[in-house]
Amino acid sequence: MSVLPEVLAANAAHAADFGERGSLALPPARRFAILTCMDARLDPARYAGLAEGDAHVIRNAGGRASDDAIRSLVISYKLLGTQEWFVVHHTDCGMEYFRGDVMAGLLDASLETAELGPNGFVDVGEGPGSPAGHDVDWLTIADREQAVVDDVARIRNHDLVPARIPVYGYVYHVTTGRLIEVAEATAVGAAS
Ligand SMILES: [Zn+2]
Repeated sequence: MSVLPEVLAANAAHAADFGERGSLALPPARRFAILTCMDARLDPARYAGLAEGDAHVIRNAGGRASDDAIRSLVISYKLLGTQEWFVVHHTDCGMEYFRGDVMAGLLDASLETAELGPNGFVDVGEGPGSPAGHDVDWLTIADREQAVVDDVARIRNHDLVPARIPVYGYVYHVTTGRLIEVAEATAVGAAS
């Protein structure tokens, strides 16, 4: 069963109640951006108090400062005026549960969904898979706080990021809903 009918029904209700939001400006009104994980338990609009039109939210697996995430952040300030950025990773992130070589091995075996067992992910699908996963940097996370520090530092030190933009580092706790600062990351990301 596809979720398609449910999504379209929800959208019809959303559009029926759209009101003044149709006249929102393109640049984010509160002039900030959040880079965070795609994890389904994280809702940046709720954990950071966003309404439509307030802020940019850039999401990927892990909330990592990949080349593409930085592409979005550069557009965010250069063309759309954001002035402060957050990097928000979280507890129990799936990116902590595998390494890049494991992922490539699972994809070598098959393109079916793997299963998470007591010793990590195992492939249960029928082949063939593909070796192309060996060419991807999966940006897995070995140390949660250090990953936030690393991502903030990568953004801070990027040639296209101005020193005036502060970059704050946080971990969202999926058991409490709280954002906990990674002080070392925020220090690395301080504006100058
Ligand atoms: Zn995650």
